[in-house]
Amino acid sequence: MPEGDTVWNTARVLHRALAGARITGSDFRVPQLATTDLTGWTVRESASRGKHLLLRLSAPSEEHWTLHSHLRMDGAWRAYAPGERWSGRPAHLIRVVLRSPGAVAVGYHLHELTLVPTATEEHLVGHLGPDLLGSDWDPAEAVRRLADHPEQTIGEALLDQRNLAGVGNLYKCEVLFLRGVSPWTPVGRVPDLPGLVALAQRLLAANRGRWTQSSTGSLHRGQTSYVYGRRAQPCRRCGTAIRKEELGERVTYWCPVCQPDHPVPPPSG
Ligand SMILES: [Zn+2]
Repeated sequence: MPEGDTVWNTARVLHRALAGARITGSDFRVPQLATTDLTGWTVRESASRGKHLLLRLSAPSEEHWTLHSHLRMDGAWRAYAPGERWSGRPAHLIRVVLRSPGAVAVGYHLHELTLVPTATEEHLVGHLGPDLLGSDWDPAEAVRRLADHPEQTIGEALLDQRNLAGVGNLYKCEVLFLRGVSPWTPVGRVPDLPGLVALAQRLLAANRGRWTQSSTGSLHRGQTSYVYGRRAQPCRRCGTAIRKEELGERVTYWCPVCQPDHPVPPPSG
């Protein structure tokens, strides 16, 4: 599932494949960019912001433009060597192909694919909270934004990219398990919000540079999560059956024993 770490990894793959290269051919397969031709443009860099990908380009006129994309649940970019077989996904999912002398980048099932002046990038990503994997990561600001809505459930608040950018459903479930916090706890009653935010950042950062997402430290299939995707399986700590229910617009997984509904309130005074 593409979360902040997956998008960060993807940005790095694109950067290594294309940064500094001149585009020798482009093929957009989305209506809004069907007539766009980036031949002769140069790739300056590839970056991520939360779950958004920003491929920054220079037009032949030297103007700076950004090709923006979002992976959501199922999107992906792959980089291939010229002549290499494209093995990523079925061809009908291809939304864009960018060719350079050294690599071919193929975007599959991308969402929100747009080309905007780099100076206006903020219109696309300016609403996002601090980026957990950004160089400007600001945990205090993330905590402040979360605490601004004390009645919201922590399960929903962690997924709201306006609070902090990069946490998806997997890390949300895992962080709450590791902190012993029920996903239904109102933000205002979470005992240690800064500790929870710090753990979320550490989990995402630990998975940079690899495609297997693990919160347990194990990279073995079936052992990479404590609760996510483990409905009815025994909790790795207490043996209780892991539960799965809808929370807001998403499902959530949790252990009813390790994550009780009524957490101990923080010490007063
Ligand atoms: Zn448990």
